[in-house]
Amino acid sequence: AARASFPEGHLDRYPHELSGGLAQRAATALALIGDAPLLLADEPTTGLDRDLVERTVDELRRHTDEGRALLIITHDLAAAERIADRVAVMYAGRIVEIAGAEAFFGAPGPRHPYAKGLLDALPEREFTPIPGMPPELGALPDGCAFADRCAYADARCTGERP
Ligand code: SF4
Repeated sequence: AARASFPEGHLDRYPHELSGGLAQRAATALALIGDAPLLLADEPTTGLDRDLVERTVDELRRHTDEGRALLIITHDLAAAERIADRVAVMYAGRIVEIAGAEAFFGAPGPRHPYAKGLLDALPEREFTPIPGMPPELGALPDGCAFADRCAYADARCTGERP
């Protein structure tokens, strides 16, 4: 309970009696029981405050230090920076960039304009949003799916997929 930051007084509660954050912590703790060599964590920090985010990713990280592999899917870039060795950025259902976490979050930084835009949008960085909206996944263009939002787009980008 302590490692999952789960209050002892709530251990005998039913799932429907838990808040979203507590249910999230219980689910993460359950996933870490056993000795599965690969852990898949889909948005494991959703609904948690910053302190609990850090404790959760540190607990996940501890398991990788013990030899397990971890694939974490997240929109939380701070959590990704805290835990990841490698980062893959997806846009419109495709991986557009894979980089070592140190190079991605530090220097030289991301190379793909969308990935760069994600970091630039963070309040502690440029705080500049990416213009426009993502495309409909059912109606993706023939060329680059990011072309409508990209400051570097030229005719070739709309004609072929990079
Ligand atoms: S629009 Fe062109 S420059 Fe921009 S991300 Fe797509 S392929 Fe790259």
